[in-house]
Amino acid sequence: MAEPILGGPASVVETACPLDCPDACSLSVTVQQGKVITIDGSHKNPVTGGYICAKVRKFDQRLYGPDRLLYPAIRKGRKGEGRFKRASWDEALQLIVERMQKAKSAHGAESILPYSYGGSNGLLTQDNLDAQLWRRFGTSRLARTVCAAPTGAANLALYGKMPSVVYQDYPDARLIILWGVNPSASGIHLVPFVREAQKRGAKLIVIDPRTTPLARSADVHLAVNAGTDVAVALAIHRYLFTNGHADAAFLRDHATGADELRERAEPWTIEKAAAIAGVEPSALLQVAELYAHSSPALVRCGWGLERNRNGGNAALAVLALPAVGGKFGVRGGGYSMSNSASWNIDRTWIGTPEPDTRVVNMNHLGRALTEYNDPPVNVLFVYNCNPAATVPDQRRIVRGLERDDLFTVVFEQVMTDTAVYADVLLPATTFLEGYDFAKAYGPITLDLGKAVVDAAGEARSNADVFGELCDRLGLLSDAEPAGELDLMLEVLNRLPPAIGEPLRAGELPTPSFSAAPVQFVDVFPNTPDRKVHLFPAALDAEAPMGLYRFQPDPGSKQYPLALISPASDRTISSTLGELPRPDVKLIMHPDDAAARGLADDDLVRVFNELGEVHCILDIDKAIRPGIVSLPKGIWRRSTRNHATGTALVADTLTDLGGGACFNDARVQVASLPTA
Ligand code: SF4
Repeated sequence: MAEPILGGPASVVETACPLDCPDACSLSVTVQQGKVITIDGSHKNPVTGGYICAKVRKFDQRLYGPDRLLYPAIRKGRKGEGRFKRASWDEALQLIVERMQKAKSAHGAESILPYSYGGSNGLLTQDNLDAQLWRRFGTSRLARTVCAAPTGAANLALYGKMPSVVYQDYPDARLIILWGVNPSASGIHLVPFVREAQKRGAKLIVIDPRTTPLARSADVHLAVNAGTDVAVALAIHRYLFTNGHADAAFLRDHATGADELRERAEPWTIEKAAAIAGVEPSALLQVAELYAHSSPALVRCGWGLERNRNGGNAALAVLALPAVGGKFGVRGGGYSMSNSASWNIDRTWIGTPEPDTRVVNMNHLGRALTEYNDPPVNVLFVYNCNPAATVPDQRRIVRGLERDDLFTVVFEQVMTDTAVYADVLLPATTFLEGYDFAKAYGPITLDLGKAVVDAAGEARSNADVFGELCDRLGLLSDAEPAGELDLMLEVLNRLPPAIGEPLRAGELPTPSFSAAPVQFVDVFPNTPDRKVHLFPAALDAEAPMGLYRFQPDPGSKQYPLALISPASDRTISSTLGELPRPDVKLIMHPDDAAARGLADDDLVRVFNELGEVHCILDIDKAIRPGIVSLPKGIWRRSTRNHATGTALVADTLTDLGGGACFNDARVQVASLPTA
């Protein structure tokens, strides 16, 4: 731990990290003279084991940095200029109330669009009094689909989001497949468990277009083309079915739809899938053989494979593998996915059902702001997210945010790319300045985080501000909680005693089925018949070409390179993107660079018909030819022309779940003369 620097006694306060990361670390924060001095891991949570990522270690730079919002403010310059004058909370909230009421009487409440995502996964910060406000006022609803929508749809349809294998059980596996996931950058606490499994003799397969740190030590690394995971998974299914490795007894007793899946997998020979994925047939065959013959065998389905036109079907095919291969019923076997639903927490505290109002897919924000007219979006209320940097079709979003007749509220911790377009800015507390419930989605952990320091400036919590807005609009009764502390107690009271009581005592609760359940021993599918639904009819109707189908690559001669935007070790989604960083670089394979006459550190232009990004080139054979990569979550200030990778991404939707197709961006790259 660094030496305290302010002088005087220092205290260490325990809390938990609720940010959008699978791990939900327990934290020890050193505080001196009311300021955070260091942030470190604590041993309260045995899975996160006393260490944390480098990102949150520097969270004090967000708390006290120059971008921190400290006071409410009202725009005084042009939209996007970022010039504001300080206002009182009363003035700012009254203005918001008036504009909401005005929009409702002129165009109906659906002309108000609340817009939020996972700036915090805490139970207090999202889907709480905010939901109360939007539901009771009757605003448009937001389909929160920018991430995890296709995998979530697949997991729900197949298994009813059954709890999945947790990190602690990885060392029991004899084979681990990491599919579309790079825990070295996101979810770092998984890495030592994978290493431990390898030490005990487990084989490791990594399926990722990049040679990630874990791919370097893998027994097989399939560097597949973007968007081809579904073909690879179906080829493994076909191998299992045609070579007598499908578990007929399991499928008979515990699954429906195996025949339909087998039929859809039939065209996918190893050779055909390998050709489309751009891998050696022998390597794909090796993966299929290893999977067929290993037990316990574990598939970790990540989020990298969902971000394309085939993402839902890819997740479905990957998650179906343990059912067909008969890999359940043993510790270390089965699948591992989001465990966010494992606590089965019913948010009864919201108290108002969802109204039947317009649903806006969050990936269509640009379209909603520039094209929707029934009714148009007149009020946009953004919190817990930064869509100007992170959501597809950046140029159209910015055009929408520039509309003079749009009233935009941004409730944020720092001056984001979206906040500069606000009409009213509201300063928000960070997780170190308030209470929240941190829910992991890798391990099955739930913890109560508490304020370690007072709020900076006049920042207020989501619960306090949405409670006051409800109150000002006459939407709350006196009996209902209207602020953070009341709400925290209300949630504790409403949680089942087996969860609420340990949290009150400062301990971690254990779910009724154990913190490390074995699938099909301790937990079963949460589907109505408790079976795996391998061919859900509703999804077959939803997918443009039906289930387990492959839509071809959208690349063209003009834009032949696939642009991917994987998570980095600098931001949590886009949180902390305001901090200074080395130049953002486009990563490109040496063959692609040579074909374009490009050299390391060249200034390049990455472009397509939607926009362009100017940045430095990093030539690296760790990425497969035909694919280039920009980091996820960068802010506009991080590139030379203030455009991020989302400027190159169309707002097309995934085959299932209405997700974002980030990895379907096809681009060209050229040198940009520095002159
Ligand atoms: S972001 Fe993840 S790894 Fe980092 S402190 Fe939070 S939970 Fe832990």
